[in-house]
Amino acid sequence: MKETIKKVGTLRNIIYYQLKRTSIPVNRIAGVELTNRCNQQCSFCPVNTKDVTKPVTREQMDMDIGEFISILEKYNKYMRDVNISHHGECFLHPDFNEAILSLKKYRISYSITTNGSLVGEHIDILEEYPPDLIMFSLYTLNPDKFKTLTKTGDVNIVLRNVEKLLKLKKEGRINTRILIRAIKMDGFEEDVEKVKEYFLNKDVDLNISVLNSWAGRVDITRYGTHLEHTIDFKYCIQPWLHCIIGSNSGVYICNNHEDEPIEYLYNKSLEEIWNLKSYRDIRKNILNSEFRNNKICSECDSFISGCMMGKPSAWFFMDAVFLRYVWSGLKGKNSEDTSGQLAEFKAGKEVK
Ligand code: SF4
Repeated sequence: MKETIKKVGTLRNIIYYQLKRTSIPVNRIAGVELTNRCNQQCSFCPVNTKDVTKPVTREQMDMDIGEFISILEKYNKYMRDVNISHHGECFLHPDFNEAILSLKKYRISYSITTNGSLVGEHIDILEEYPPDLIMFSLYTLNPDKFKTLTKTGDVNIVLRNVEKLLKLKKEGRINTRILIRAIKMDGFEEDVEKVKEYFLNKDVDLNISVLNSWAGRVDITRYGTHLEHTIDFKYCIQPWLHCIIGSNSGVYICNNHEDEPIEYLYNKSLEEIWNLKSYRDIRKNILNSEFRNNKICSECDSFISGCMMGKPSAWFFMDAVFLRYVWSGLKGKNSEDTSGQLAEFKAGKEVK
């Protein structure tokens, strides 16, 4: 019942988008970031590396566990599949176990994105309240290349940790979807193939993607061709569907949004922040085909599953992208395959 109400909320906000409403009810919190610290320094990550076009300047901090619990208590009605990693390695949080037990208390489904280095140290708590999804960032099986790319990573530890989770799954002790993400970039073509081979016939899903520029923070041309996965113009629906809460208690509109949030939860409630003029102006520019006028969207190049929509229209119920949303919502999860949507947009849906 709770899940159905939440799906209805998503559909409601998509319809508000079509009706060009900028003042809308809160729908979903997609992430509550436990920490934005990380124990790796991947060369293309603007959070922990300075050798990028525009490094992240937000202070590195762990969310106070009391604050985390209070956010869950106040806003759990907006939470499902909440990602607790966002731009940090969540296993570094000193109160990680307590955070998971709090999610359990409020029966909030959650997911983790990880570099995989510390998973093995937290197996017990993951079994106590398993995530729906855990995604490992794994670029290569070659230890030297992995180390060069991540500065501190050890790919053998990551692989051992994946195996530990697979064993739990096989024994029926968790039912977590394990996703392995590899990146198509120059010099890593064979590595991607080897990752695919290694995981063939294992109980994991693969996500082979390309880098995005984090809205202009990273020069992705350094890493090879990306054009087939990027788009010049789009109608982005993220500001209608969800927000992310950073470890600084700031409210961010999407995964690309960094440094200055819209506002902090210690100043205003989420409901107030969600409809502040600055938030509504971001929506207004998107509706008016002027999303590049939004400071945070001005260099956004990414094509992200679940963030694309057709031009707002009273005929939305005949729009293929809208119908796909409804269909994937009824099925219960978003498709990982974004190629169909991208082809449609490239075929002219993005025309102003
Ligand atoms: S256009 Fe890009 S930066 Fe703007 S809200 Fe959408 S994903 Fe975020």
